[in-house]
Amino acid sequence: MLIAGNWKMFKGPEETSEFCRALRDADLGDADVVVCPPYASLAAAVTALADTEIGVAAQNVHWAAEGPFTGEVSAAMLRELGVYGAIVGHSERRQYFGETDETVARRVRAALDAGLFVIACVGESEEEREAGQTELILRLQVEAIADAAADRGDNLAVAYEPIWAIGTGRTATPQLAQEAHLLIKSILDVPVLYGGSVKPENAAELCGQSAVDGALVGGASLDLDSFAEICRRSSQS
Ligand code: PEP
Repeated sequence: MLIAGNWKMFKGPEETSEFCRALRDADLGDADVVVCPPYASLAAAVTALADTEIGVAAQNVHWAAEGPFTGEVSAAMLRELGVYGAIVGHSERRQYFGETDETVARRVRAALDAGLFVIACVGESEEEREAGQTELILRLQVEAIADAAADRGDNLAVAYEPIWAIGTGRTATPQLAQEAHLLIKSILDVPVLYGGSVKPENAAELCGQSAVDGALVGGASLDLDSFAEICRRSSQS
């Protein structure tokens, strides 16, 4: 089970150091664990988690190695910092910052080329689900990622994050997650994480589905006890 904590725009460097020092000593069961702090806190996380098995990933990455792209950060820069991977195409990036399947694909390709592990996010909105378009949307999103990944799938995971379940407290049923994951795996054979209001109470059931290979956790990853509990329960199932 891969459990990744997406901290979004929470925890500056000081809080990050403190959290990561505590995470080192926490019981995380058998899960493979990754934390994804904001850019400003990546160095603090890398330092605090040095010599541990816990990975540090960014929440985005640009496709160019360098250039006039104000506000962006390249894969080479992340690698230089000791960062292990990056989330790409999170629905908040797609929703608020104009990310498209095309820009997501470019970011995925560049990150994989630079040797980063990529967690590429896909998921349908509530309107798309109600209109019966879930399969179509997932196909388009996953095919764009598959084309970009080409032969580099070894360093890639997909996170299925139905938008209506992110930060809302509404979770996909385990059956619904399983169906979506099977569809994704039929297009791209990589580990698929579930994301959307994962908590200690639902982690075991969701992660117990055969096509669920872990979780991308937002809100509940900000609290050490709940994050550690999710890690432990995910690997118990
Ligand atoms: C996320 O941001 O990727 C996420 C899944 O958030 P939450 O767990 O808070 O729904």
